[in-house]
Amino acid sequence: MYIKYSPEERCQKYREVRLKYQQAHKEETKAQKHKYYEEHKEERSLKSHQAYLIHREENVRRTKLYYEAHKHDEEYKLKKRIYNRKRNQSLKLEVIDHYSVGNIPQCVRCGITDLDVLCIDHINGGGGKHRRNINTGLTSWLKLHNYPDGYQILCANCNLKKRIQEDEYHLS
Ligand SMILES: [Zn+2]
Repeated sequence: MYIKYSPEERCQKYREVRLKYQQAHKEETKAQKHKYYEEHKEERSLKSHQAYLIHREENVRRTKLYYEAHKHDEEYKLKKRIYNRKRNQSLKLEVIDHYSVGNIPQCVRCGITDLDVLCIDHINGGGGKHRRNINTGLTSWLKLHNYPDGYQILCANCNLKKRIQEDEYHLS
């Protein structure tokens, strides 16, 4: 016997069927999407970079306007501080990870692993001068320049100790 569904019922039925299909083919769809993503990776990143270039000025202008309007808000200031802190920490971790010997970030001299005291050291000295010449932080600079050689991870103590030893060497 032919059952006549009302439009609402038909809609409901369709939704059920679709949901069943989606659930049954979940993994397959996921794999397809991933495959598409991998195959079009370069094209996609190029496109998103182009979009970035096209909208850059407008975005900068909008960000500036927002900043001007909210710069004295306590909530905005707090959010910005938290955001910057998180960003700096993850950047620092990334760079320290890159220059660390072995799998864990640690000081090459004493082996301490406390991230709070680890810093990036110019192996051949001249760090202060270099820092003054670049107008971003050293961590961003290193990442931007594809992690050049000549840097190592030291803790604050060993860094200080190294500087004292170098000074003594130059004085003697
Ligand atoms: Zn150390």
